[in-house]
Amino acid sequence: MVMFGVFFVMVSTLLDNSSSSAQTRSSLSLESDQRFPLKVTKGGSFEQVRIMWDFLFNKPADTRPSVEIPVQTLTKQELLTAPNNTVYRLGHSTVLMKLHDTFWITDPMFSDRASPVQWAGPQRFHRPPITIDDLPPIKAVIISHDHYDHLDHDSIVKLAVKTEYFLTPLGVGAILVGWGVPSLKVKQLDWWQEMAIGGLQLVATPARHFSGRGMFNKNQTQWASWVFLTDDQRVFFSGDSGYFDGFKRIGDKYGPFDITLLETGAYNANWPEVHMHPEETIQAHIDLKGRNLFPIHNGTFDLSMHSWHDPLDRIVALGNALGIPVVTPAVGKPARMVEAAGGRRWWENLDSLKSSGCVSRISDLNHI
Ligand SMILES: [Zn+2]
Ligand SMILES: [Zn+2]
Repeated sequence: MVMFGVFFVMVSTLLDNSSSSAQTRSSLSLESDQRFPLKVTKGGSFEQVRIMWDFLFNKPADTRPSVEIPVQTLTKQELLTAPNNTVYRLGHSTVLMKLHDTFWITDPMFSDRASPVQWAGPQRFHRPPITIDDLPPIKAVIISHDHYDHLDHDSIVKLAVKTEYFLTPLGVGAILVGWGVPSLKVKQLDWWQEMAIGGLQLVATPARHFSGRGMFNKNQTQWASWVFLTDDQRVFFSGDSGYFDGFKRIGDKYGPFDITLLETGAYNANWPEVHMHPEETIQAHIDLKGRNLFPIHNGTFDLSMHSWHDPLDRIVALGNALGIPVVTPAVGKPARMVEAAGGRRWWENLDSLKSSGCVSRISDLNHI
């Protein structure tokens, strides 16, 4: 049963090479159509079966942490009194930002599993630092694409009552409306389309990825990265993306960015087109003319073959080598966009603490 669920998630997210017909995506932008079909995984059918077999049965032991990841509980009061331009890592690609006295949240994922079912599929390493019920009113939820680790039904439904707007790429908005989100709240933007909300300018920008939530709806909806522009901050959110020349074009048009929230995780040599290795993430940050780099898409779900901390180890080392500030707050801890603070390396030595018998519970990790 469990294997079936993992198999389903894998099939529906990674191992899809179907080149969906262009006519079924007639509503998508010309630019993304020109980029179809993306090859999600390398090799032919036999090679793909081998890749899936390895993913399911030959996982290295360290793709999940051996102890709970430290989480700092976040309260509504703390959020309400936080200064503008504060950013919080809630887990995976879920980032909460306070901008212009309002709250903005990307790809809200609060459920236990990134899966069509909650009895199987990738399970999170840590609890969210705050519940949706405890969140203050949200000005807008920003969605990058429809994969389960970014578009979570239960999170969207709960957020609908306290969220003013949901911004999505083309086609994704219809999924939200189908889940009961009032259509007036849902704004679908094509690549390079802009929208003014709550004193901010938001722009849907290109990404190199793919979409689909099942076996038979591949690439029917758009995927996007997003630009947030305030009076004094320029923020980029990558969603999921392989490295491509779009980062340079976005940087030329909307950079320099004060902070880039950039995908750094779930990479693998077998699917190089759709996720970035840390070296590519750093290059994307440079292309975007970014100042601080805030790595996302790591530390919450096991979606590849690399160790759970490899993205953080490598991106911090690269940042140090190149003089790029990499912002790595622990889950739930505030980070100021304007400061070039790195944050403590909360992920280091967690596994060795466990193996040495020093800790077994999150309460033991309060020093981190
Ligand atoms: Zn994805
Ligand atoms: Zn993802």
